[in-house]
Amino acid sequence: MELKQYNMQFSLPPNLTDYQSLYTSFSWERERENLDGLLQGGVNIAYEAVERHAQSPLTDTVALRFISKDRTIKNITYGNLQKLTSRFANVLNTLNISKGEAVFTLAGRIPELYIVALGALKKVAVFCPLFSVFGPEPIFQRLSRGEAKVLVTTTSFFEKKVKLILDRLPSLKYVLLTDASQHINEQVLSLPRLMEPASEHFIIPDTNPEDPALLHFTSGTTGMPKGALHVHKAVLTHYVTGKYVLDFHFGDIFWCTADPGWVTGTSYGIIAPLVNGVTSIIDEEDFDAVRWYSILEDQKVNIWYTAPTAIRRLMRMDIYPMEKYNLEHLRVILSVGEPLHAEAVLWGEKMFGKPILDNWWQTETGGIMIANFPSMDVKPGSMGKPLPGVEAAIADVTDKDFRIIQEPGKQGNLVLKKGWPSMFRTYLHDEERYKKCFRGEWYITGDLAKKDSDGYFWFVGRADDIIKTSGHMVGPFEVESILMDHVSVAEAAVIGKPDPIIGELVKAFIVLKPGITSDENLQMDIIGFARKKLGPAVAPKELAFVNELPKTRSGKILRRLLKARELGLPEGDLSTLEQP
Ligand code: AMP
Repeated sequence: MELKQYNMQFSLPPNLTDYQSLYTSFSWERERENLDGLLQGGVNIAYEAVERHAQSPLTDTVALRFISKDRTIKNITYGNLQKLTSRFANVLNTLNISKGEAVFTLAGRIPELYIVALGALKKVAVFCPLFSVFGPEPIFQRLSRGEAKVLVTTTSFFEKKVKLILDRLPSLKYVLLTDASQHINEQVLSLPRLMEPASEHFIIPDTNPEDPALLHFTSGTTGMPKGALHVHKAVLTHYVTGKYVLDFHFGDIFWCTADPGWVTGTSYGIIAPLVNGVTSIIDEEDFDAVRWYSILEDQKVNIWYTAPTAIRRLMRMDIYPMEKYNLEHLRVILSVGEPLHAEAVLWGEKMFGKPILDNWWQTETGGIMIANFPSMDVKPGSMGKPLPGVEAAIADVTDKDFRIIQEPGKQGNLVLKKGWPSMFRTYLHDEERYKKCFRGEWYITGDLAKKDSDGYFWFVGRADDIIKTSGHMVGPFEVESILMDHVSVAEAAVIGKPDPIIGELVKAFIVLKPGITSDENLQMDIIGFARKKLGPAVAPKELAFVNELPKTRSGKILRRLLKARELGLPEGDLSTLEQP
């Protein structure tokens, strides 16, 4: 691929002007000096994100600007955010929630979610956001695995999704409703009523950089979702990536379109912009091309962090944004979560006068690891180069061997050298699984990639069966388990089927119980059953009936083979296939 030289006429010089020299001279310790730290010598995410700015000239700057569905705007300054988050930290005190206990949210992008997240971090509780589109089963799995002590949600989600699983969650002490004016009973309480008398003053306790802070569930191919645990020190990655990748400058207006139910919406929808003292736009509504372009214009957004699924949707519209909207403030556009094809990068250049900068990371890494930096030449279709402070490589990984591949252009496993601050510290209650992710000094990401002779990384695919649909990870096992609960289903296997808009759609293959005949009604019934239990974001969109599923001799479903057959691709090595 030819190296495309873009003429970057940004109105501000980027924070990272010379990638190579920063990469060579970078030191995490030196960057840490740009954070304040606690008086006692610790590090607390909420202190760096809120407290220190509230005590500085930034206090009256808008930290969070919420755009509600009806487009009402609500601004919260750094000063007010300090008070609100302190109140919530004091609410947790009143409820006797201790350091390290888990506070979950299940809500859309409403102010309470952000206040709860930062208030919980002040209290050194562990914050865990759930995606509000999940159905009751994924919610139950995560609340129970994460041993949630507090869940903050809305009355509507409580009624529809939580009430029916409450008696299966013995360790959940409280459910706090954001929109209830009265307490319901001793367990289900009104958040506004608790917040009202709570003091605006809260002194953040000494926080060890290694104290747990954030829990994000991510999907595996085998077994139920894994809880990746991050520590307060992760804030250093949020700060550094905000500065060098997102290119935050004081006064910037930033819009991350991700939902905090996924890691991007927390690391970059909450923490990184606040740590860097900029203003974040938060839109409560889901994707809508016209609304999005008008938000970019009305809010004078400088930096826009979005995802390939949204970009592909915009590409299909007959809208030329620069003709219809004044987007002169837009300085940097970035994308994450799925492959951003060269075509989309070039479309961005045509539509916005600048390329869309792809970057790569995952729940386990806690922050951006590989990126196209604003000052760097972009190779459309490539994820870019490693963040300064991060060593990335391609490796041959088998059960027995591990070898870094030096030859450029060779495909292998994408691996990262341990040691960046936001690396996950464990999978909750699953240390064995955590250990399996490492070979000596190297973390194995589960992605396949290539590195070219200029040091750019190119995404190839997942090394496992995990599905990425609309940028969200879906574990086939979680879906299959629910499908198997349907009275007519004997066996189920789930794959990701390529889709031009949402990347992959969830497709299920079903073997029915003996004597049950397949028809369209049954197909609809099983899909409906899965949607009710799993929620529309996770449930299969397509379903096919089959007589049997391909399996290994040890009985493991060969999803890879199902996928190859579905797509008409070569079936590959079939030596482990159980022969009928
Ligand atoms: P998650 O943990 O849900 O954030 O998903 C992380 C996974 O998304 C990665 O392991 C990749 O498979 C995929 N991913 C993230 N960013 C990119 C990207 N820029 N290009 C290709 N795949 C990506």
